[in-house]
Amino acid sequence: PLDFAGRLVKRLGVKVREDVVHAVDGVDLSVRKGEVVGLVGESGCGKSTLGRMVAGIMPPSDGQVVWRGQDLTKLSGADAKRAKLRTQMIFQDPYASLNPRLKVAEIVGEAPQYHGLVPRGGLEAYVDDQLRRAGLDPSLKRRYPHQFSGGQRQRIGIARALAVQPDFLVCDEAVAALDVSIQAQILNLFMKLRRELDLTYLFISHDLGVVEHLSDRVVIMYLGRVVEEAPSEEVFARPNHPYTRALLAEVPRIEARKRVFAGVQGEIPSPLNPPSGCHFHPRCPFAFDRCRAERPALKQVAPGHRSACHLNDAA
Ligand code: SF4
Repeated sequence: PLDFAGRLVKRLGVKVREDVVHAVDGVDLSVRKGEVVGLVGESGCGKSTLGRMVAGIMPPSDGQVVWRGQDLTKLSGADAKRAKLRTQMIFQDPYASLNPRLKVAEIVGEAPQYHGLVPRGGLEAYVDDQLRRAGLDPSLKRRYPHQFSGGQRQRIGIARALAVQPDFLVCDEAVAALDVSIQAQILNLFMKLRRELDLTYLFISHDLGVVEHLSDRVVIMYLGRVVEEAPSEEVFARPNHPYTRALLAEVPRIEARKRVFAGVQGEIPSPLNPPSGCHFHPRCPFAFDRCRAERPALKQVAPGHRSACHLNDAA
């Protein structure tokens, strides 16, 4: 589906030494304009790699990243810069991405000024607007990042991203380092900004509980592959894939999960040497011979709901 203002990512990989390790392998991910897609999986499943490729920070070894019909991997010069600005990334640790020697006003104002997005003489008011939007008092703009709390620093990172007028935010574990009460505030801010600015989100998290109320659609990844994809309510009400059901069992306030699963057992294998067939088979309580030999295809199990598990063929 290339005809909407979204992105399509297909068979992306990253190079590690001489080998191409498909940290993201055979993934088709599309995000429609105005949609919030939650991308979920354990650390090491490839979701951050995918997010970086979508944001244009990391080039894929092969595959496409399509935005409004243009393949970003083929763009260069001013076109590439413009397209890149439209997607901004919000990271888990804002402190690491904020220059400690710059005041907040400089952090937020630097990029829009450089890219000519601010009218002459209007930088201060422009910065104030971004800070207000992100829920920060503009009178604090002469302070340095270390003078703020974790939640406030995340708001500075958000103000900086908004300052270049993006329409797509890739949030990579953006609330994972924050206290639960602050998490809720930042998630509410993301939703407010969605309404006010018509933003589109790819919301990456290891925690299904975090994406539950935020996402229109949820995509579950395991070892570089999408294993399940469905509208948010559908994933939580009728999870299909054994990995998704095991992840849900780890979210304490979401019942479910019928006590069949005690959460995901064991460690995620290395993407350098992934298991044969279904990558999840060494950890799956339902694995049978075919699982070890054959990769399950992502197939529709209900309208808008796809899952990659051989059990669906047996049903
Ligand atoms: Fe488990 Fe087999 Fe389904 Fe993979 S394909 S999730 S191993 S039952």
